[in-house]
Amino acid sequence: MPFFISAVRRGIPGCLAGAVLMSCAISQQQEVELGATTAAEVSAQLPLIKDAAVVSYINTLGTQLAQATDTRDLDWTFTVVDSREVNAFALPGGWVYVNRGLIERATDMSELAGVIAHEIGHVTLRHSVQQLQQAQGANAGLVVLCTMTKVCESGVSQAAINVGGSALFAKFSRTDEAEADAEAVATTVKAGITPRGIPAMFRLLLSERQSNPSALDAFFASHPLEESRITATEALIAKYQAAQLNRLTKDTQAFQTFRRRLLALPPSPATKAP
Ligand SMILES: [Zn+2]
Repeated sequence: MPFFISAVRRGIPGCLAGAVLMSCAISQQQEVELGATTAAEVSAQLPLIKDAAVVSYINTLGTQLAQATDTRDLDWTFTVVDSREVNAFALPGGWVYVNRGLIERATDMSELAGVIAHEIGHVTLRHSVQQLQQAQGANAGLVVLCTMTKVCESGVSQAAINVGGSALFAKFSRTDEAEADAEAVATTVKAGITPRGIPAMFRLLLSERQSNPSALDAFFASHPLEESRITATEALIAKYQAAQLNRLTKDTQAFQTFRRRLLALPPSPATKAP
């Protein structure tokens, strides 16, 4: 049995027994178990950066953001994936992953914070869990599989996760993206960080797509990004008073030290084609 389906069947037994899942609410405990199982699989299949200073910084920044918005007291874990591709993704229950390639492209702390806050938003809004809850009967396992990975496109029997991370948690709707963006704006402000890094990062990624499209395939596959997301985010930011925004943090020494440390690490392993 493919890994994810067996994991889901173990994790949510009551749901799969019924013909219709609409009424099957996935508890927080089940959500965390699903996330933990999937996180173990991610650890086995993706190259993760173990450098203590890198792990410490990403968790300090991530926790600062999560604590500003999480009302469910989840146990958050933030991880840097050793991939030159640009990507970020989250698993249910509080596991957030950011590729080294995205961090190295960020120019200041607020740009990375915006991406992390967006992924936190997917978790706190339970976007993946909702997709699972809306699935029916035996298809539930496949929905999780397809939501989290691209194995549906490559054959369920070959549940290999793409090193670039494009495989994971790909299929959010534009509505989900807009909601996660709005969460990211609110969360960064609550955490004392300027939300202006969010549209700034979008602009950076859109302009890089022109010059180096393949490095961004994974990110754009999982996060539909158009000019409209930039204008929508800027409109949300414009609702805050300029004086308040100007008091928020844009960059820190700690971020620049962290970024330099990543740049100095050995090159990322070569990635498979998506
Ligand atoms: Zn997203």
